[in-house]
Amino acid sequence: EQIYIDGKFYSKENARISVYDHGLLYGDGVFEGIRAYNGRVFRLDEHIDRMYDGARAICLVPPLSKEEFKEAILETLRRNDLKDAYIRPIFTRGVGDLGLDPRKCPKAGVIIIAVSWGAMYGDLYEKGLTGVTVSVRRNAPEALPTNIKSLNYLNNILAKIEANEKGGDEAIIFDIRGNISEGSGDNIFIIKNGRIRTPFVQYNLNGITRGAVFELAEKLGISLAEANLGYFDLYTADEVFVTGTAAEIAPMTRIDGRVIGDGKPGPVTKKLMTAYTELTRTTGTP
Ligand code: PLP
Repeated sequence: EQIYIDGKFYSKENARISVYDHGLLYGDGVFEGIRAYNGRVFRLDEHIDRMYDGARAICLVPPLSKEEFKEAILETLRRNDLKDAYIRPIFTRGVGDLGLDPRKCPKAGVIIIAVSWGAMYGDLYEKGLTGVTVSVRRNAPEALPTNIKSLNYLNNILAKIEANEKGGDEAIIFDIRGNISEGSGDNIFIIKNGRIRTPFVQYNLNGITRGAVFELAEKLGISLAEANLGYFDLYTADEVFVTGTAAEIAPMTRIDGRVIGDGKPGPVTKKLMTAYTELTRTTGTP
C-alpha cells in the first residue's frame, strides 16, 4: 500500500505525520471520500471542488492546485494498481505548536490513502439496513457550515456508537430543530406514494451521491423535493434509503423496531439503485 504524504509516497508502515499536526491536535482540516469503479473515478471534480471549498471556508490554503491534486489522486491509484477503490484525501492545517492559532502552521499537510473497495453493506443491499434514530444532534448551520467535511466527526461517531449499541446498521441523526438531517456518513431519502423527499441541504452535507440521485430521479420521472421531515414521515414511509460515496444507494427496511413498507427494498429504491450502478460504471475520470 502506497500512501501519499506531502508530495511523496510511503509504505503503510512508514506513512507517518507529526503529533504537532493540527489535524490531529484540533481536528483542523478537511477530507473527502471518493470512489473509483473499474479504473474510473466517480465525480472526481465535484469531490475536489467540495474539498477546496471546505478548505477555503476554514482559511486553509492547500499547497497544490486543483489540477496537481487531481493528478496526485490518480497517481495514488496507479501506484496501488487499484481499479475498484475508496480514496481518502485529507488536508490538515499542518504542523504548528500546541496553541490552536493556525498562523503557527506555515504549510497545510496533504495525505491521500487509497484502498481496494467493494460493496460497503454486503448482503444488506438485498435485505435492507436497520436504522436507529439517535439522541446526538447534527451541528446546526448557524454554528458551523454543514458543508465543510471537516476532520471533526465526533457527532457522527457518537451517532454510530448509539446505533451500534442498539443493534442498528446506521444512525439517523436529527438537527436541533427536530427535523431529520442525515445518517452518520450518508444522506437520507423517504418515499411516500411514489414521491421522494429528503431534508433541506442547508442542514446536512451536500452529498455528491445525493446530487446524483436528484439527477437520476429527474431522468426517471420520479418526483423529488426537499422537505422538513420527522419521525412520523420515517415510520410511515413506503421506502427509505440512504446515499453516500461509500454506501452508494442502500435501502433501509427497519427503523427503531418498525418495519418500513413491506420490509423489503421497494421498487423506487431498486430502480434508483440500478440507475446508480449504471451511472457509476459508465462515467468517471479514467
Ligand atoms: N453525510 C455525511 C455526514 C457524510 O460524511 C457523507 C459522506 O461523505 C455523506 C453525507 C454523503 O456524501 P457523499 O455522497 O458526497 O459521499
